[in-house]
Amino acid sequence: MNSICVGILALQGDYGKHKEKCDWLGVDSIYVRSSEELNRCTHLIIPGGESTTISKLMKLYGMVDELKKFGKEKYIWGTCAGMILVAKKVDDTRVENLGLIDIYVQRNAYGRQVDSFITEENLPLIDGKEKFKLIFIRAPVLLEYGDSVTPLGFVNEIPVIARNDNVLVSSFHPELTPDLRMHSYFIFKMGKKK
Ligand code: GLN
Repeated sequence: MNSICVGILALQGDYGKHKEKCDWLGVDSIYVRSSEELNRCTHLIIPGGESTTISKLMKLYGMVDELKKFGKEKYIWGTCAGMILVAKKVDDTRVENLGLIDIYVQRNAYGRQVDSFITEENLPLIDGKEKFKLIFIRAPVLLEYGDSVTPLGFVNEIPVIARNDNVLVSSFHPELTPDLRMHSYFIFKMGKKK
């Protein structure tokens, strides 16, 4: 069995906090800034940040084709800006999205920075023990999803977590709380039954 290596796309955004969570879980993780680094990984996290900037940097670093290939074969989790980047359809043409999961996403759909918010929610499909604290920062909204996609959690009836076979998306920032359950779901449970 291949051992787990979680890559964290470290071009822009909140990648450091994801590394910290992987360390807390005791799994090997590396920052990814090249196709060579990507190819050492079994999993990849695309963090929150600015999707237009990350998209430009993916191109500049020559990683777009490798990321698309990786997203067909291995596990990818896009959080916030990362969710925009892995989506099949985005409302903003400045983002060159990777098209890895059949969702339609609207950027900044809750409003501006001042409209960022924190809420608490039960997410029994991730872990039913206690509520999660969910931090939304200029978050995108998942407007539509296809048959290959399963929503795994809602806030005000809007899906905030969803997945297909190997791609997970969330519109909030799980790396900003000490809660390890989202990282644990991605790293240890993605391969298991939905
Ligand atoms: N507003 C950002 C974008 O559209 C995403 C914000 C975030 O990742 N927290 O790219």
